[in-house]
Amino acid sequence: MGLIEHRQLIILGAGPAGLSAAIYAARAELKPLVITGMVLYGQSSLTHTIENYPGFPKGVGGMELGQLFEEQAKAFGAEFLVDEVQAVDLSRHPYTVSVYGGDYTADALIIAMGANNKRLNVPGEEEFIGRGVSYCGTCDGWFYKDKDIHVVGGGDSALEEALFLTRFAHSVTIIHRRDTLRAGAILENRARTNPKISFLFDSVVNEIRGSEGVEELLIENVKTGEKSLMPTEGLFIFIGHSPNTTFFEGQLEMEPGGTLKIDEHLETSKKSVFAAGEIADPHFRQVVTSAGMGAAAAISATHCLENMSCGL
Ligand SMILES: Cc1cc2nc3c(=O)[nH]c(=O)nc-3n(C[C@H](O)[C@H](O)[C@H](O)COP(=O)(O)OP(=O)(O)OC[C@H]3O[C@@H](n4cnc5c(N)ncnc54)[C@H](O)[C@@H]3O)c2cc1C
Repeated sequence: MGLIEHRQLIILGAGPAGLSAAIYAARAELKPLVITGMVLYGQSSLTHTIENYPGFPKGVGGMELGQLFEEQAKAFGAEFLVDEVQAVDLSRHPYTVSVYGGDYTADALIIAMGANNKRLNVPGEEEFIGRGVSYCGTCDGWFYKDKDIHVVGGGDSALEEALFLTRFAHSVTIIHRRDTLRAGAILENRARTNPKISFLFDSVVNEIRGSEGVEELLIENVKTGEKSLMPTEGLFIFIGHSPNTTFFEGQLEMEPGGTLKIDEHLETSKKSVFAAGEIADPHFRQVVTSAGMGAAAAISATHCLENMSCGL
């Protein structure tokens, strides 16, 4: 397909990182093109209320916050393209971004395509996201004060999150498919000695059931095959995190955990290709931190475009 247009800056993704980058880049009069992908406003659009984004003491709807970001970016001249990136060619400058509608070239790119939390892929999971199923203790722990909840996973993040959740929950049961944990020894020790935490080993969740919210889990013991129903008031799933980096394999350097490698200016291993948000952040994974990275990447992109040093 032919070239549609050349742009100074293209932003890939319209989650908090991409939208915040769009606001900053638009205010720098770069007229950025934001390619939204299929999840307009990103992962935050999946959550009913965000209570930890500054400036909203009563909380704000995930969709509503995304709409406000978009409105702000458009007010300064950002343009949005509802299409999905199919390929990115970083071998020649200007770089080429292919979408279903055709090809665009750009002097600079901000990659803000986010990440997906790995899913259990069991019945009930999709249905109860935001109503008892969560992938983020920092985001949702507060809603589980004095509740008896479950955590799935046996690695560092599962144990870290389980320990964090004990600040709120009455009890936290960690369900793990093996009989040994994959977490570091210090974390394991902390979890094992925490009186609120208990373990259910050799077990998997086969189904999540409930009505208004999650009420029970269908558990299977993988060694005996025995199935049982376990009441719960919430299920946190921490079985991994996959950044959306497929298009950049072999083109950009990655960190061992799979996020894009960036420097202190949020530049990737390719000149004038910046990355922001969860695609480059294995640690914080919040709306505010992703938005902050988006702003920083746009400032860096603006500098490189002003100095005419992009892609050199
Ligand atoms: C259910 C849930 C609740 C949460 N609650 C909170 C909370 O209360 N507070 C908080 O701070 N954080 C919360 N988070 C985390 C927060 O949403 C994320 O940290 C944040 O959205 C990450 O922003 P991002 O812009 O990096 O990526 P994402 O939000 O993942 O956005 C990625 C963007 O890239 C686009 N994209 C992907 N592939 C392509 C492609 N091929 N072409 C073009 N575009 C593409 C997507 O369409 C999307 O627009 C929650 C997350 C979830 C899942």
